[in-house]
Amino acid sequence: MSDDRGMAVVGAGLVGSLMALLLANRGHKVDVYERRADPRKVGDAAGRSINLALSERGWKALELAGAVDAVRSIAMPVKARCMHALDGTLTYQPYGLPGKGRFGHDQCIYSVARGPLNRILMESAEATGLVSVHFEHPLADFQAKDGGLNLSFKGGKSARHQRMFGTDGAFSAVRQRMMKSDRFDFSQSYLAHGYKEVAMPPNSAGDFAIDPEALHIWPRGHFMLMALPNPDKTFTCTLFAPYEGDQGFDSIPDAEAARDYFHEHFPDVLDLVPDFDRDWNQNPTSSLVMTRCNPWHQGEHVVLMGDAAHAIVPFYGQGMNSGFEDARVMADLLDAHGGSPDESAWPSLMTEFTQLRKQNGDAIGDLALRNFIEMRDRTGDPRFLLQKRIERRLTNLHPDQWKPLYSMVTFSHLPYSEALALGQIQDGIMQEVMDRPDIEAQWDSDEVEQHALRLAADRLPTAPVSS
Ligand SMILES: Cc1cc2nc3c(=O)[nH]c(=O)nc-3n(C[C@H](O)[C@H](O)[C@H](O)COP(=O)(O)OP(=O)(O)OC[C@H]3O[C@@H](n4cnc5c(N)ncnc54)[C@H](O)[C@@H]3O)c2cc1C
Repeated sequence: MSDDRGMAVVGAGLVGSLMALLLANRGHKVDVYERRADPRKVGDAAGRSINLALSERGWKALELAGAVDAVRSIAMPVKARCMHALDGTLTYQPYGLPGKGRFGHDQCIYSVARGPLNRILMESAEATGLVSVHFEHPLADFQAKDGGLNLSFKGGKSARHQRMFGTDGAFSAVRQRMMKSDRFDFSQSYLAHGYKEVAMPPNSAGDFAIDPEALHIWPRGHFMLMALPNPDKTFTCTLFAPYEGDQGFDSIPDAEAARDYFHEHFPDVLDLVPDFDRDWNQNPTSSLVMTRCNPWHQGEHVVLMGDAAHAIVPFYGQGMNSGFEDARVMADLLDAHGGSPDESAWPSLMTEFTQLRKQNGDAIGDLALRNFIEMRDRTGDPRFLLQKRIERRLTNLHPDQWKPLYSMVTFSHLPYSEALALGQIQDGIMQEVMDRPDIEAQWDSDEVEQHALRLAADRLPTAPVSS
């Protein structure tokens, strides 16, 4: 199993499987070590989100890996946010521009099921003939020795490799080992909120119970419900609420109390979830953790990516996408050396990876937290919805001069840190525009449009249109 010169990937989740495929595509022999049993034999592990929003950064990495067609076959286009007010009123906000999407249709995000996506990536990697996945191999420790790495696993097995990619998730064992080395920074914090999932099955006609081309949000101030469609015509509904206090999980002791909670806050949902009690009782209330660390590499042998390097809250739909972008950037760095760098090139390659990715991991962490506040507090606010309408009008009329932050994050490849900086400037501009006394009557006038464009020309360092 061990090869002194081969690559080790620790963690066969989404990012590890993709990284293994990208390495194999460049001719590397790869051993992947995964803590869990083979999901093809024991079924997918419960306890993680069932479906995920895949967007442009993720697609670009999948394209480089040659996995777009396979993933597209399980991906559902989601074209808009649909906000559900307490009185049942629906408000739609399209995600992107008409006709500008990756596959020729409207710009949109895609809902993909975690298990099948993971399987496609893992099996594509195995199909290269260069990747072996070793299940039930939880990494316990590693040591750099004699120009290579000695890996040890719980249960006593060991292996030796030249290089190791730590893709073992938010509670990474690779990172925990790195934390014992000098000058390694690490921070971790939990959101005060947790989440619980319930399934919305197809309706009696066998069709989706609500609009399948939208991500549904029931914003209720400091808590919210979200629903994302699945190809089997179900929706996964996720309640995000504080653990403690007002409307918190601790105020919902059982399924009956949960029904009352849903009746009060999401009255249009309960009738569509017939197995509510079963789901409520069976599904865990899971926590949301954020981590940061620096550097993302250790010497020339070990590197972290995905959640192992930067666990973020899920509210921008970018955790997996940013992890896929990490893998794509690493592959680009390898390609700069013909796919297989010389020994002497690895130290600078690893340093460059941290330099390129760390600031962007931090930026998407900040953006995701901000988007949580926007989704739960502001998507129900008429003033915020008006601001979004004005921004959308600007983008439609002047796509070269105004690109919304959401689009920069979701539909472009602009580094997250640049998107964050440009978004902050745009936010200042929009606050000034929104403060006009005539804004509600004049929001779609030439005057408001020119006002915003003048401020943009003055303040934005470069037109935020690159991709
Ligand atoms: C509720 C929720 C919703 C989300 N929605 C989205 C979304 O819409 N879009 C999006 O882009 N992202 C989303 N995310 C984030 C996304 O799930 C993660 O960013 C993504 O799973 C990270 O992939 P990864 O491969 O880095 O880590 P993981 O998926 O956690 O995989 C890590 C793997 O390592 C294995 N492992 C762990 N420890 C060891 C060990 N010691 N030895 C060997 N193997 C080990 C694990 O078993 C696992 O297979 C969401 C997250 C949550 C919680």
